Amino acid sequence: MIVLKFGGQTIGTPEGIRRCIDIVGSFRDKKPVVVVSAHGKTTDDLILAAKKAAEGKIRTGPIREYHSALAHECGVPKGIIDPLLTRLEALLHGIGLLKELTPRTLDNVASFGERLSSRIVAAALSAGAVRAVPVNSYDIGLITDSNYGNAAPLPDIGSHIAKNLSKEKDVPVVTGFLGKDKHGEVTTLGRSGSDLSATLIASAVDAEEVIIWKSVDGLMTADPDIVKDAKNIPEISFDEASELAYFGAEVLHPSALVPAIRENIPVRVSNVLKDNDRGTTILSRAVITRNIAKSVAYKEDVTLIHLNSPRFHSVPDVLGMALKILKEEGIVAHMITTSEAGISLITQSGLKKEQLAGAQKKLQEIATSRYEPSMAIICMVGDELKGNAASIGKIFGKLADAKINARAITRSASEINVAFLVPELKIKEAVGALHSLL
Ligand code: ASP
Ligand code: MG
Repeated sequence: MIVLKFGGQTIGTPEGIRRCIDIVGSFRDKKPVVVVSAHGKTTDDLILAAKKAAEGKIRTGPIREYHSALAHECGVPKGIIDPLLTRLEALLHGIGLLKELTPRTLDNVASFGERLSSRIVAAALSAGAVRAVPVNSYDIGLITDSNYGNAAPLPDIGSHIAKNLSKEKDVPVVTGFLGKDKHGEVTTLGRSGSDLSATLIASAVDAEEVIIWKSVDGLMTADPDIVKDAKNIPEISFDEASELAYFGAEVLHPSALVPAIRENIPVRVSNVLKDNDRGTTILSRAVITRNIAKSVAYKEDVTLIHLNSPRFHSVPDVLGMALKILKEEGIVAHMITTSEAGISLITQSGLKKEQLAGAQKKLQEIATSRYEPSMAIICMVGDELKGNAASIGKIFGKLADAKINARAITRSASEINVAFLVPELKIKEAVGALHSLL
């Protein structure tokens, strides 16, 4: 079996849906299970519609028109989606009357995106050459906890899912992103959660491969927006890909790889628009290239919090207290460096002013602190870095040539990354210089 997952952008237009039909057809011999995201930006539209409804403003026209047009152009009868659209509209009117939107209700509204897309894609496939059937993931056993908006699948649901899917004679087109909790309420797995749905289902049915179809290339040697000659990476290991995702390459959510790693199922990320390109395959052991690493990633808009050598507490004490304080403010330390002279904590990107101010106030009580916003983490990733002292020299030599001062340098003990901090303004220069080493 093979799992084929289609992202929202790939099936956002009638041409995209036709392309998806061709792709599924070409995998017919491999018993495909199809997993779909909502068409285009439907999830954003649904969330906005729910929030507006809670303010008493009901606007359902655009969502109905968009889906009706997609269905029409793909030869899908109106009757297939009309009942769902009518139910969605009733739900939004209900929210409008109550002027109240709970996380549970928001998940219910958001779920209509994938419920609609699975029906449209299955009907379009059936109208073409592939007999297909829409399947709600929660009806085949995708049960989660009740953390609405970011629900986690329960352990041990795999055998249920496998048993239910084995009964389908036609190609199942499963809703990504959705589950139900033990009380039977619809949940969502967090934004971009359909990748996780796909790998979960693949691990349940012991698929030979998961292919994540996107409208962009797979993993790249650098962000092609800032490095013109960035290239596709044909093969990368689970560890390397997780590392890249953590340090900013926005291709796959790191948690989406977890089920694939557990069952050792290769995950391929492919561009629907490129016929003869295999994209990137993520697997347990990737080839070691002759380059010094596989990719250079970056994460912008991070803040460096530097805590000065504390007078009343030891460094480990301050570190423990500081991490607790940051957590209370919703701040994660992405990188940490310590010495007797001080502790440097590098935060995630996109912090709000209030979060930093809150942390600053509480940190004052344990140490003096200094803040440097608008910084960027640059990270080189690759198994090639393991045990290769020369590559570290080359990396920092290149930076020295470019007169870029790398700070808060870290390297995991697994040796597959080297990360450091530069001012945001230096991202392009630093990434470009390091990419020239690849
Ligand atoms: N449709 C959902 C979202 O936009 C899930 C996904 O696309 O993976 O977040
Ligand atoms: Mg989506």
